[in-house]
Amino acid sequence: GRINVALDGPAGAGKSTVARLVAEELGFVYIDTGAMYRAVTWKIIQEGLNSDQVDQVIAVAKQMQIELKPGQQGQKVFVDGIEVTDAIRSEEINQNVSWIASIPQIRELLVHLQQQMAVSKGIVMDGRDIGTHVLPDAEIKVFLTATAKERAKRRFQETKDPDITIDQLEFNINQRDRMDEQREASPLIRAEDAILLDSTEMSLSEVVTQVLDLCRT
Ligand code: C5P
Repeated sequence: GRINVALDGPAGAGKSTVARLVAEELGFVYIDTGAMYRAVTWKIIQEGLNSDQVDQVIAVAKQMQIELKPGQQGQKVFVDGIEVTDAIRSEEINQNVSWIASIPQIRELLVHLQQQMAVSKGIVMDGRDIGTHVLPDAEIKVFLTATAKERAKRRFQETKDPDITIDQLEFNINQRDRMDEQREASPLIRAEDAILLDSTEMSLSEVVTQVLDLCRT
């Protein structure tokens, strides 16, 4: 039978890349839930709203349309028909996404959408609360981590921002992790039945192979 795979972990651990490659290999559908929180954040910034305007933020989130479409380089993201795939990866979004993701009504909205996407199984879903809240019955749960230093190093190699330093990236990553771990509503935490995978000393293909091995046993 088909299974679901839940892949959680802190910022920059490589979840999206691993999830995409695992899904490709298994012929599964890959869903990046972080992109959904990022899409809401993009819209909120467009609307000029801030953290003092939670009611308006919730109202906007309820009305907007988020679409995830499979593309060559992974999933494409659209907000109300506008492609935001690249725009949602900016440092401005990184800095704002966690306060928006801490709003329980926003989580409720997105978790509901995510659960609907996964009813037919054969899904690899990555995020922060997939194993604990979104898909608590997922057959395979992995919690992917690496040291903050290593994660910052990997982000630095990908960044298109010419002014940012590794130290700044590490600071931002730590700050986002703290907010994700300390929020009240479904915080970032390893599910009891999730397998811990520390990728600090592992290559991407080693991580993918390990996750695939778990899926095939
Ligand atoms: O995975 P990514 O770094 O794109 O996630 C961006 C942010 O979205 C996280 O830092 C977190 O605040 C939020 N998020 C979440 N729950 C998820 C996925 C992402 O709260 N399932």
